[in-house]
Amino acid sequence: MDTSRQQDCGCGHVREVLEEYVHAELDSRERAALDAHLRSCPECTNAHRLSLTLTSVIVRGCREQAPIELRRRVIARIETMRDVP
Ligand SMILES: [Zn+2]
Repeated sequence: MDTSRQQDCGCGHVREVLEEYVHAELDSRERAALDAHLRSCPECTNAHRLSLTLTSVIVRGCREQAPIELRRRVIARIETMRDVP
């Protein structure tokens, strides 16, 4: 994990729980906090959209086993996007 780019806007935490958020596994208070953050943070909104897309692809394509390799590639892609000015 990349710990050299610590941000104080809460992005780190958002990325940590984004998976659970997408799968609706967060409690309502945590969801509300993430909703608020996503509204004010384009980067996390991007990551959230990609995560949603990825999740729907996985759910549609393969319910039993998530293609880990594909997930890694998409996550790497998100990291790349964050570095684009
Ligand atoms: Zn953020």
